[in-house]
Amino acid sequence: MKKFYITTPVYYVNSKPHIGHSYTQVACDTVARFMRQLGHEVFFMTGSDEHGEKIEKTTLERGYKKGEEKRFVDEIVPVFKDLWAKLGIKYDYFIRTTDDYHIKAVQAILQKLYKDGKIYKKVYKGWFCTPCETFWSENQAPGGICPDCKRPIERLDETNYFFKTSEYQKWLIEYIDKNPGFIRPDFRKNEVLGFLKEELLDLCISRPKSRMSWGIEIPFDKDYVTYVWFDALVNYISGAGYPHDMERFGNLWPADFHVIGKDILRHHAVYWPIILHAAGIEPPKSIFAHGWWVIKGEKMSKSKGNVVDPIELVTKYGVDPYRYFLLREVNFGLDGTFSEEALITRYNSDLANDLGNLLSRTLSMVDKYFEGKVPEITGHGSRVTGYDNLKNKALNLSAELERSIPNFDFVTALTKIWEVIDIANKLIEDSKPWNLAKEKKTDDLASLMSGLIDALKTIAISIYPFMPETSEKMKNQLGMKDGSGKVRSSGPLFPRIETK
Ligand SMILES: [Zn+2]
Repeated sequence: MKKFYITTPVYYVNSKPHIGHSYTQVACDTVARFMRQLGHEVFFMTGSDEHGEKIEKTTLERGYKKGEEKRFVDEIVPVFKDLWAKLGIKYDYFIRTTDDYHIKAVQAILQKLYKDGKIYKKVYKGWFCTPCETFWSENQAPGGICPDCKRPIERLDETNYFFKTSEYQKWLIEYIDKNPGFIRPDFRKNEVLGFLKEELLDLCISRPKSRMSWGIEIPFDKDYVTYVWFDALVNYISGAGYPHDMERFGNLWPADFHVIGKDILRHHAVYWPIILHAAGIEPPKSIFAHGWWVIKGEKMSKSKGNVVDPIELVTKYGVDPYRYFLLREVNFGLDGTFSEEALITRYNSDLANDLGNLLSRTLSMVDKYFEGKVPEITGHGSRVTGYDNLKNKALNLSAELERSIPNFDFVTALTKIWEVIDIANKLIEDSKPWNLAKEKKTDDLASLMSGLIDALKTIAISIYPFMPETSEKMKNQLGMKDGSGKVRSSGPLFPRIETK
């Protein structure tokens, strides 16, 4: 059976990971964990993009010598892996674009396209943005400014290899029209279709070694290396086994989701499907582009000095609150505003007050009234008002999650889970168990407690993809691990953060 295959981009390792990287990771990890929970076989791949001009430059800036690029990236990659471990990112495979099998896969694709006459050599006279490594036509970059990074572009006069992207423009437009889920969210699809209204230029896929040598050598011309984006995109198939393990590839491809930031949508939704189609390979099923986290209306950037360090936040607030905040605060796909105040507000209200309180007061009542043993319902107890409502909401929850999480609708999923939490909290307030105890209505009290514990068990399972550590803690406290039916309260899940 085909596995559920989900990818993040391979991240460019010329600097430390930031909140944007962690956002993609957490989203993919959440979907991957949910699909595993449903019983699917999952292949979740992430990795690092290690070639190109910027790595070559950064290597020298960091005091390494020319030719020591591999040494430099070898030291940066663990920084990314460490953060993924801290964030509880449970990926199945980490691909590095300097891996031998990946290099061979890139060369195999290049060779195939070349042999089929899809790659040709020509002198390029035109505009080039060095930081973006992108060629622009006069129309695309009015005023000599790069439309992507807004920096001045330069004249370039160079012989290079080009891939006949333009031949596939019509095919791609039709493909996007025929496959409504291919580019998500919908407004991103329209953005791509808008871009495709302009004439698509053939993609320059080489760099002369005389100018830039840190890349994968073009198999049919040793004076050139391939363009870093061509190299990077191929990771999605090389990491899945193409062409060295075609049986494995057959079980994975087409990928179910490429999850990316909106800034690299064009590479993924235009060039990548065309490269695949030209090489006789099916495009991925879906590309989901998420938004950016901004701070006070500005994009985070090193030069502005407003970069949020995920490690700092995780150390201060814990992994699960950070994961929860990223996926709960903003609809996945849209831009979000990041602030520590907003994170603290979510933490105190949703996690400490709503969820944390529900667990701790339920457990302490089971302790107090039933000596820590979850009461068994005999069927004779007259149930308290609101009990059935809680039970039904909890029962419907898994269906709600199956609709929302695989579509990256994390806000809806978490809202539905919190509805159950809210109803349970309200049920405690309305039914006043302390009075039931005083009045010795033991059957009512027993059915109420067992209903609350059942709801908490459902919640513990439901939050697992989002907050795996918290889910484990809850399962322990609820006695789900040992099957003893005894609860074991062990301090608050989320101690309140005091603010001045
Ligand atoms: Zn640029």
